Amino acid sequence: MTSIELESVDKIYDPSGQAVQAVDDMNISIQDGEFLVFVGPSGCGKTTTLRMIAGLESVTSGSIVFGDEDVTDVRPRERGVAMVFQDYALYPHMTVRKNIGFGLRLSSDYSEQEIERRVEETAEMLGIEDLLGDRPGELSGGQQQRVALGRAIVRDPTVFLLDEPLSNLDAKLRDDMRKEILRLQRELDVTSVYVTHDQTEAMAMGDRIAVMNEGELQQVGPPEEVYLDPANEFVAGFLGSPSMNFLETSVESVDGTARFDGPGEFTYERSIDSLSATLEGYDRVTVGIRPEDVSIVESGGVPVEVTVVEAMGDENVVYLETGGVELTGRIDSHVRFSRGDRVRIDFAPDDLYLFEPETGEAIE
Ligand code: ATP
Repeated sequence: MTSIELESVDKIYDPSGQAVQAVDDMNISIQDGEFLVFVGPSGCGKTTTLRMIAGLESVTSGSIVFGDEDVTDVRPRERGVAMVFQDYALYPHMTVRKNIGFGLRLSSDYSEQEIERRVEETAEMLGIEDLLGDRPGELSGGQQQRVALGRAIVRDPTVFLLDEPLSNLDAKLRDDMRKEILRLQRELDVTSVYVTHDQTEAMAMGDRIAVMNEGELQQVGPPEEVYLDPANEFVAGFLGSPSMNFLETSVESVDGTARFDGPGEFTYERSIDSLSATLEGYDRVTVGIRPEDVSIVESGGVPVEVTVVEAMGDENVVYLETGGVELTGRIDSHVRFSRGDRVRIDFAPDDLYLFEPETGEAIE
C-alpha cells in the first residue's frame, strides 16, 4: 500500500505554441488504501491528472510522491501502478489467459509456473475462470472489462488507476461492475484513483471525491460532505440530479429579518438567525435550492407556474417558472400537477445555500 501526494502540480500542453493549462496548481493527498474519485466535466483535466500519476504524462512543474519516494521522474514501469482504460485495451489475437499474463511475461521476475498460478488466482477472483481459453472478441463488454481488471491486478500493483472504466457498459452492468470494483479494491487493499465525469458514479464509489473544473481542484471530501457543504456554486451545481436551482437576489436585512428579492414573484423572508450563513455586508446574493428541498404549500411561499411534469415513479420532477426563471422541484408523486397550474412553493431556511454572486464562493 502507498499514499500519493501531488504537490503544486501543473500541466501545460503546448501543441504548436497554443498553450493549454490542463492542470493548474493541483495539491492533493491520497491516503493509503483509499478509493479516491476525480470527477468533473469533459476537459477539466481528470485524465491528465491520472496519466501524470501513472507517469504516462510528464508534469510541467510540481512533484508527485508515492509513500516517501518522489516519483516525479520515475518511469511508469517502475512506479508499480496498474491502469485500466475505458476501451479495455486488450490484445484481440491473444486468449484471456495470455492477456492477463502479458505484463508478467514482459518482466523477467516471474517463472512460467508463477505466472500460471497468478493468472488462475486472478481469474478466480473475478469469476472468469471459464473464459481463460477465449479471445476478447468472443466476450461481452462486462467480461472484457473483467479481463482488463484482471490484467491490472495480476501484477499486484501498489497503486490502481482507473479511467472511466465503465462508460462502455449499459446501466445495469455498470451498477454490477461498480460493486465488483469496490469489492476488489477492498479485498486487495490497494490505493485507487478513479476518474469519471458521472457525478452519480463518483458519489456512489468514492471514499472521497475530488471535484475539478477547468484544470483546478474545487473541493475534496467524502461525498455526503461535498454534497451538503459545497465550497462554491460550481460544485453545488455539478453534484445532484436534477441540478441545484440558482437565483440571483437582492438581500435586505432589517430588524433580524432577511428579505431576498429575485426574479418575477420570487420573494423570500426569514429571520436571520434561522439562516446558517452570515449575510453581513451583502446586498446581492445567489440563492441555491436543491430540487428535493422544494415543497408545495397551501399559502405563503413563492407563487410559480408549472411548465413541465416528468414522472419518475415515486417522485415527479416538476419544472416551475417565475419571472422567466425556471426552477426545478422533486415532489412526491401523490401531489398531482398539470401544466399551467399555479402553485406555491417553499423551502426551509436551513436548506438554502448562499453564494457570492461575483465569485460563486459559498458564504459561510
Ligand atoms: P475527458 O473526460 O473529456 O477526457 P478530462 O477531464 O479527462 O476530459 P483531459 O483529457 O485531462 O480532461 O484534458 C484537459 C485539457 O487538456 C483539455 O482542454 C484537453 O483538450 C487538453 N489536452 C489533453 N491532452 C492533450 C494533448 N495531448 N495535447 C494537447 N492538449 C491536450
